[in-house]
Amino acid sequence: RIAPVIDELGRRFADAGHELSLVGGPVRDAMLGRRHNDLDFTTSARPEQTERLLKGWADAIWDMGRAFGTIGCRRGPWQVEITTYRSEAYDPSSRKPDVDFGDSLDGDLGRRDFTVNAMAVRLPGRQVEDPYGGVVDLAHRVLRTPGRPEDSFSDDPLRMMRAARFAAQLGFTVDDGVREAMTAMADRISIISAERVRDELVKLVCAPYPRLGLTLLVETGLAALVLPELPALMLERDEHHRHKDVYEHTLTVLEQAIDLEDRLGGEPDFVSRFAALMHDVGKPRTRRFLDDGTVTFHHHDVVGAKITRKRMQALRFSNDEIEAVTSLVELHLRFHGYGSGEWTDSAVRRYVRDAGDQLERLHVLTRADCTTRNQRKAARLARTYDELEERIARLSEQEELASIRPDLDGNQIMGILGI
Ligand code: ATP
Ligand code: MG
Repeated sequence: RIAPVIDELGRRFADAGHELSLVGGPVRDAMLGRRHNDLDFTTSARPEQTERLLKGWADAIWDMGRAFGTIGCRRGPWQVEITTYRSEAYDPSSRKPDVDFGDSLDGDLGRRDFTVNAMAVRLPGRQVEDPYGGVVDLAHRVLRTPGRPEDSFSDDPLRMMRAARFAAQLGFTVDDGVREAMTAMADRISIISAERVRDELVKLVCAPYPRLGLTLLVETGLAALVLPELPALMLERDEHHRHKDVYEHTLTVLEQAIDLEDRLGGEPDFVSRFAALMHDVGKPRTRRFLDDGTVTFHHHDVVGAKITRKRMQALRFSNDEIEAVTSLVELHLRFHGYGSGEWTDSAVRRYVRDAGDQLERLHVLTRADCTTRNQRKAARLARTYDELEERIARLSEQEELASIRPDLDGNQIMGILGI
């Protein structure tokens, strides 16, 4: 369904002799029956013309980067972006002052990342344009590039990250050619800024199917460049050292954290999810084999927090995000490692104090981490944590009561009141 005000906008452009089409995400998501709140349009009008046509229709208009042809506006609940057709390689990071604007919708669609994003609906007639077979690819749930993937990824290597991100968001696979090109060209990602890589990683991790996106990054070799700590978790398997497949364990913990998030009715929480992904990154570096054939990971919490901090700094995360994630990585071992047995009251207090405002997330991470191949052991761990959580709740209740109770005993109060 397209709202009448959107039709009205299409008519405005048509009356002025310009083409206007809904394009990309909103078209894709409408066909998938998914909600999409932003409206992206593409047009034959130049940015100045777009701006003039929006006056009187939009509630507010702003410049999103005139040099690249994008004008933003808002109309009621709609966040709108209108971009002039492009004719050259799609490169939003290019600092070239004037991009060559194009003159055809098909040309513009051909420069988009994936066929499922290269569909448009012309307004006001609502004619669907799908020159690259996006509808068929949607039906097959596959990401394919409109042209040769090698050309597309060499024009803009960020598209390789976008492939993994859309796989995670949509639950799609990638076409064989896309996978091969990603594998062959992974190292081209180095020309993309850390911030843009980070933004795609955040979207991937906060998506419904992060395992799909992460597996793709690992298998194509991209993860080795943007998040090397993840593939490093693939410690060789061997039946005597059962706990070594830390990679698979990590993906499971992430999925369990997402389950808990869903059950608590929360929005996707990047900090929780990224902490789940990084919680064991200290393991490969701290592994020691003991004489009895078992394996230990000596102080991997401290090392893990350090490794996590370094990676997040390299990816230009904010200090708040870095502090939140690293404290979770460091604290998850208080339970799993140091103390799934007896906890003294002061140990419980210290746990609460050290967790600070990360306590709720620490509960999620620690519970998500209650997974081992041994179901009975996992259930026992979960029960032990239930008890710990109850004690924490009781303790903080007591402390709250203590803080509202006056510093006087009954006799002093009777004295003051003359009773
Ligand atoms: P969402 O907004 O939910 O993240 P989206 O599909 O709208 O998803 P955007 O990143 O907003 O994705 O991009 C909007 C559209 O612009 C895409 O659908 C795609 O057609 C095109 N696009 C964006 N970035 C690129 C790129 N790097 N290379 C090619 N096309 C791109
Ligand atoms: Mg969008």
